[in-house]
Amino acid sequence: MNHIIKYPETHPLTWRLDTINKNPIWINEYHKKNGYSALKFMLNNMTPKDVINLVKDSELRGRGGAGFYTGIKWSLMPKKNNIPRYLLCNADEMEPGTYKDRLLLEQLPHQLLEGMIISGFAIEATMAYIFLRGEYISAENNLKKAIIEAENCGYLGRNILGSDFTFKIVLHTGAGRYICGEETALINSLEGKRANPRIKPPFPAIVGLWGKPTCVNNVETLSNIPAIVLNGSNWYKKISLSKDRGTKLMGFSGRVNNPGVWEVPFGISARELLEDYAKGMKKGFRLKAWQPGGAGTDFLTEKNLDVKMDFDSISKVGSRFGTGIAMAVDHTVNIVSLVLNLEKFFSRESCGLCTPCREGLPWIVKILQSFEDGFAQNEDINILEDLCVQLGPGKTVCAHAPGAMEPLQSAIKLFRSEFEQCIRKNSFSNIEMINKKNMFKLNL
Ligand code: SF4
Repeated sequence: MNHIIKYPETHPLTWRLDTINKNPIWINEYHKKNGYSALKFMLNNMTPKDVINLVKDSELRGRGGAGFYTGIKWSLMPKKNNIPRYLLCNADEMEPGTYKDRLLLEQLPHQLLEGMIISGFAIEATMAYIFLRGEYISAENNLKKAIIEAENCGYLGRNILGSDFTFKIVLHTGAGRYICGEETALINSLEGKRANPRIKPPFPAIVGLWGKPTCVNNVETLSNIPAIVLNGSNWYKKISLSKDRGTKLMGFSGRVNNPGVWEVPFGISARELLEDYAKGMKKGFRLKAWQPGGAGTDFLTEKNLDVKMDFDSISKVGSRFGTGIAMAVDHTVNIVSLVLNLEKFFSRESCGLCTPCREGLPWIVKILQSFEDGFAQNEDINILEDLCVQLGPGKTVCAHAPGAMEPLQSAIKLFRSEFEQCIRKNSFSNIEMINKKNMFKLNL
């Protein structure tokens, strides 16, 4: 994080951070910095419906990538009955290049817990799980300690702070599958089943964990809740520079001078993010392309840098806002090799449930490998383009395959000449080509 002065009103997510030593904010310091005030205020002054209406009015959008409105998601939960219901915190942050939730989990665990307790109250759940990426060892240790601290202070458990609200949080660590970040795969995994996404409908709000109503929210989404309860929806709407409300953890990685993650208002430009926060490209490197929000988002170029960083603006220039953690690709990177690397990842992480994804992604990897190895032909570019359609939106159970197509389709569109150069550079005589292709087939 940048060492800039942060105020609760301008940096509701990160103003409590220890930016010098980067130590976690434990309960005493969290109390000193107004921690759990939102929970106390809510228990004394609000009903579950009030909290839902407040969050609806704030227009908070989910921070996991899809950007669904949180208040609306909560209001889809059925009316309170005696059936158990669950809140799940999606902390399975595995998008390559994305590391924003890690900051909140490791350094501000109480802010997340407070957000979860308030959210649990709003949807009238008594039980919550945090589904944490298994490799986030520090986050696991810090969350465990924070849960005990919160229980000891009466913020978790039976009759919280003397109210009739009871709420428990259980920490669960994942076993290392990217697809568990998809909410229904996460639910299956939590139930001890293979992590395949479920066909929707029914949606988790109706049939979720153990077949019961369930709401799944991202770490950053839940961490926004205490400040909204304390400061109100109007304040939240005003701190943004665009019609997507509030602030957002955004970042830049790649060959930039100051890679990192920063809390900024929605609507700052990508250029500000790159030049003012990430301090521009490293000496000797030029920006060739960038992905706005994770490996599964379309490439943009330098000419798109003045776009506002928000859901609609990024989509208008042909990509997706995603997680808001951008990746810079410099001029030395071969786009075919980069896309091959990304598609290898997506292919490995396919859950295998639907045919286009299970069969199509490895096929794409083999074709891209043939570009690298020197026996691709012109028609292979057309085949790749066709596969981008066959694996595109609406063809598979979840968004994994369409997401995997975004970097590929945009790479072909923006850098077609690099694909063609691969073919020209490696043109062989017919005999050599036949021999190479036979070798390739034997290796399939
Ligand atoms: S798109 Fe891929 S990851 Fe998603 S359900 Fe189908 S096979 Fe599984």
